[in-house]
Amino acid sequence: MIDIRSDTVTRPTPAMLQAMMAAQVGDDVFGEDATVNALQERAARLFGMEAALYCPSGTMTNQIAIKIHTQPGDEVICDELAHVYLYEGGGIAFNSGASVRTLRGNNGRFTADQVEENINGRENAHFPCSQLVTVENTVNKGGGCCWDLAEIERIRDVCNRHGLALHLDGARLFNALVARGQTPQRYGELFDTISVCLSKGLGAPVGSLLLGSKAHIVKAHRVRKVLGGGMRQAGFLAAAGLYAIEHHTQRLSQDHDKARVTGETLQTLPYVATVLPVETNIVVFRLGEAVGTAAFLQHLREHQVLAFAIGKQTVRFVFHLDVSDEHFGQLLTALQAFRPAAP
Ligand SMILES: *Cc1c(COP(=O)(O)O)cnc(C)c1O
Repeated sequence: MIDIRSDTVTRPTPAMLQAMMAAQVGDDVFGEDATVNALQERAARLFGMEAALYCPSGTMTNQIAIKIHTQPGDEVICDELAHVYLYEGGGIAFNSGASVRTLRGNNGRFTADQVEENINGRENAHFPCSQLVTVENTVNKGGGCCWDLAEIERIRDVCNRHGLALHLDGARLFNALVARGQTPQRYGELFDTISVCLSKGLGAPVGSLLLGSKAHIVKAHRVRKVLGGGMRQAGFLAAAGLYAIEHHTQRLSQDHDKARVTGETLQTLPYVATVLPVETNIVVFRLGEAVGTAAFLQHLREHQVLAFAIGKQTVRFVFHLDVSDEHFGQLLTALQAFRPAAP
């Protein structure tokens, strides 16, 4: 099967598995796992940040960041499409007791003006105190679109003027870096904390990193413990993350190429209504109103393609390192061959 439901479905390559098997490990709760330490130091250096913390998931790195930047009753500002708001089980309320002010951006990207208009001052006791802004790059629900650095710079400026922290949900940040030719150092300068997934397009089986100042990571380490995220010989997994950072970032452009060609093909097909602009490895498109979504997905399955709907008429494809060129040809053939049932 060609599985394009998500870029989380990848299996370790033989070379990655070899790196995992050869890892030097110790008890990371004692800070003694050499490979976890190496991964954290490598990532911190890459982003020009002081420290990093290895965690089991991107949800945990985001939730830890929100926890260390807020107090119960504070408010978090994010886009209405944000993963931290929509897909983390209500964790902002559950873990941090914070409320959320959602902004309606352009496919998940809001402006500095929108942030400024939605900040509650500290003087008036009626309002929850705005404390944190979170940006998501690339935007998962926005079809994998990327942010302009200039807008993030303006948001940083607003945060500085109002004393707000700025967190980046960079689950797929490496896709944005490759697509836009940006550097991790610049992101390290602009954000207080950054979370990055190793288990998405980078192809590691497990794991995410939270990056920040030494002081932030000391606090984050305590919250990770409370959430049950302290792991022992985690170096076997961290080795996969190290391997992924060294070997699987530049190749992301191959996934972007497949996504772009898929988007162009979908544009020409009569049963497709609209396709979100394709910038990275995600393609989000709407089927025509009369087209049965279940029938379309069943047709794909008969052509060995596994995909799913993220709305009534909306389907998402995600490309990753386990989709070969041969698979890709099969997908295009399947898309061309689909004939919706007559109404
Ligand atoms: C996948 C993802 C996460 C984290 O997900 P986990 O499954 O918990 O690792 C966070 N943000 C975005 C935008 C994501 O796509």
